[in-house]
Amino acid sequence: MSNILVIILIIISLNYLFELLLDVLNLRYLNKAIPNILSDVYDISTYAKQQEYKAETTKFSFIQGALSFVVIFLVLYFGFLGKLHAYIAEFGFSSLMTTLAFFGTLFIVGQVISMPFSLWSIFVIEEKYGFNRVTPSLFVFDFLKSIFLAVILGGGLLAIITLVFQVSGQWFWLIALAIMLLFSLLANALYSRVIVPLFNKQTPLASGDLYDDIKELAQKVGFPVNKVFVIDGSKRSSKANAYFTGFGSNRRVILYDTLINSMQNNEILAVLSHEIGHYKKKHIWTNFALGGLQMAIILYVFNLFAQSTDLSIALGYSNATEPIFHLSLIAFGLLFTPIEHVIGIGTNMMSRKMEYQADEFASKLDYGNELISALKKLSKESLSNLTPHPAYVFVNYSHPTLFQRARKILDGEGHQTKK
Ligand SMILES: [Zn+2]
Repeated sequence: MSNILVIILIIISLNYLFELLLDVLNLRYLNKAIPNILSDVYDISTYAKQQEYKAETTKFSFIQGALSFVVIFLVLYFGFLGKLHAYIAEFGFSSLMTTLAFFGTLFIVGQVISMPFSLWSIFVIEEKYGFNRVTPSLFVFDFLKSIFLAVILGGGLLAIITLVFQVSGQWFWLIALAIMLLFSLLANALYSRVIVPLFNKQTPLASGDLYDDIKELAQKVGFPVNKVFVIDGSKRSSKANAYFTGFGSNRRVILYDTLINSMQNNEILAVLSHEIGHYKKKHIWTNFALGGLQMAIILYVFNLFAQSTDLSIALGYSNATEPIFHLSLIAFGLLFTPIEHVIGIGTNMMSRKMEYQADEFASKLDYGNELISALKKLSKESLSNLTPHPAYVFVNYSHPTLFQRARKILDGEGHQTKK
């Protein structure tokens, strides 16, 4: 067994144990006392339901995590990836086609393994707690459309990057970086206009009280009211949401119909001002820049490793005489896992900071209390865990907890002179 393979197996095992540990810690915190300021979120019976829901989803993710760990470990240990490459190489395709066939096979196997889990999660767990709105036929159409997108966009990008790798040598990372940044800009620009409409309907706000209120708020903060859309999220789930997306003229605030139906106008305005806060603070650009930096580091380091055959041999292709792009890529990705974790924690810290900034923006517009009550409703309706373990939050949460957000908003209000 090659040393690199031993390192990879140790890394994925430690990684699995680390995630398991966080899950266990989080589960232990489940029935901790709820902080005072959140005591009105759940009544007794909803709280019992939340505890049951959280326990069930965590158990489900234990099983899924354990299975995927065992599969990946065995695949690597027995060198199946190298064997798969050797098998495909015998067909004598071009090296581009070989790479596409290799990832295509892994993609299909991955889909087959994960299918029972998605079916169980949607039609058993989400159904049982009354969240699910997906019908079997919608599930099939969603699945086919997402496969289509993955093949066109993922396959297309992969083909371009593979070609660049073959011709560019030491400048691979820089050219690949430019392509990835361009792709991500394009994806961002087309997301609302091309990708979302494949799955959902987005409609401009209908006229009425809410429209008038939103228009007034939008004018006050300088955000065009015609960039506020309502999406039919209720098609798939009863859970509510809102988000901000896009650059420049593609910018949009998207409100779920489930949000509009379950909240009072003032609470909707509070959520909207939070989303506009993300726009005003240029969070999309910050995320884009950070994502680009991360991509640059990954590609640069990959480039250093990619010219050696060691990575291909580690994955079981023992007669590699030249580096095999797809094997190198996977081995590198696995070796990079610990650094990826560190980057992920940094990204989540940054993201939580931005959430506080968006909350602060809403508070300054005097929507602090409404925002707290909107967030409480969102938590209640999605049966959120109100007492996550701090270590779990530190590693995995992109948003501060409800308690942290409510406390921060209330603190801010105390210092502010009310008009
Ligand atoms: Zn936000």
